[in-house]
Amino acid sequence: MTTIYRGHVFHIAGSPLVGDAAQHLVSIQDGALVVASDGTIAWLGEFRMLPAEHSEAAVIDNRPGFIIPGFVDAHLHLPQTYSTDSAGGGQLLEWLDTCVFPAESRLEDPEFASLIARDFTRRRVAAGTTAAMVFGSAFPHAQDALFEETRRAGIRVVSGRGIQTVGSPAAAALITGEERALELAESEISRWHAVDTGDSTTALLQVAIVPRFSLSVTRQTLAALGELYSGVREKGVYFHSHLNENNRPGDGEIDAVKSVYEVERYLDTYDGLFLPGSRRGGESLLGRRSIMAHAVHCQDAELARLADTGTSIAHCPTSQQFLGSGTMPWTRTNSFGVNVALGTDIGAGDEWLISRVLNDAFKVHLSEPAEAGVSLSAAELLFTGTLAGARALDMEARFGNFDLGKDADFLLISPENWEPLAQILEYGIRSPDDQTRTEQVLFALLMGLREPAITGVFVKGRRALSPA
Ligand SMILES: [Zn+2]
Repeated sequence: MTTIYRGHVFHIAGSPLVGDAAQHLVSIQDGALVVASDGTIAWLGEFRMLPAEHSEAAVIDNRPGFIIPGFVDAHLHLPQTYSTDSAGGGQLLEWLDTCVFPAESRLEDPEFASLIARDFTRRRVAAGTTAAMVFGSAFPHAQDALFEETRRAGIRVVSGRGIQTVGSPAAAALITGEERALELAESEISRWHAVDTGDSTTALLQVAIVPRFSLSVTRQTLAALGELYSGVREKGVYFHSHLNENNRPGDGEIDAVKSVYEVERYLDTYDGLFLPGSRRGGESLLGRRSIMAHAVHCQDAELARLADTGTSIAHCPTSQQFLGSGTMPWTRTNSFGVNVALGTDIGAGDEWLISRVLNDAFKVHLSEPAEAGVSLSAAELLFTGTLAGARALDMEARFGNFDLGKDADFLLISPENWEPLAQILEYGIRSPDDQTRTEQVLFALLMGLREPAITGVFVKGRRALSPA
């Protein structure tokens, strides 16, 4: 059955780079999003221009609310669902030992793992995160629970078990031997990759190979994962990890990676160049289905390599503030042509809602030193939280905006459910100029949005179900 959703539609049409997002911003004040029975977008335009062929279709009237594409979270951690309160652990490496490894170890208990998978999926539905790259648990039963809950909810996920083959005593429960790590990764791919449709070009459930970061694995692990990944790339399997997050001189993450691996660049360890002097030791893990979280402190050569390989960055400004990791230089990073999507990085990030992370992105980039400071436009923010995420997941052809024929992944927003949002939309100062006013309304929507105002979350035209 065809269904028409009526409301103020915003999306970034086409396939622009972030700098061209404003020219691709579509705003239709009394819009109609027509969703065909197969869950794809059959038509989009002004309601009064609705083609006769759709005149009999059911209308869901969301006026005076909004219709926007579903948010894409390019980096968050399942086993850190209850860790958004984890202050007191210092910066990244201390926080991992003090707060995160103990929290993640609790998923060894299957009952606790089921509980966290349920609550994680609830938070995703509440925040309108229709697609996500989820950094998984070390424990296969927790991954099973995640995929099962996600399937029931009807939303998209790419996830993989967090791989660790070395680490501190605090991480003991999360560490396996080399062979076991490989077996578990292979088994997760065969159990869950594209199992819902049997085809990675249509599946909602997909699998990634996910070493926590280079310090949690060895040269042997990276060589084995490179070989495994080469064998499953064509099945559409993903690769995901962390890169260049903490640059504290001497004992921070980046210096530790360079010293343990004796490499010139952190990225080399994921690029097969993990032998001393950045010599090749195995296959590269980079590519169009690879996402590196953070990338705050990249060298030029690293950014160029990310762009060349089609690898995306999951930018996580909320988390970077929480752990004192610094600010990814927005203009410089984008100038290399690398795709920058957005991640909440739950639980180092403490906001599930992508638009809250966009709010932080706006603030930190305006506050970059001297000429690097940039005021991101509302269109660039919307692009980063939706279409850039779909691009990072190599699924831009399927969702991320309302181009015809794409899957209908969208949110219904009802400002009356969140009074502060309703009030800024009602009483905010607006320009007489149409283009400026459009950007002002979108900016108000993104900055003022909170979970209670998200009243409908749809994937492939079907309403997502929050786990009971
Ligand atoms: Zn992370």
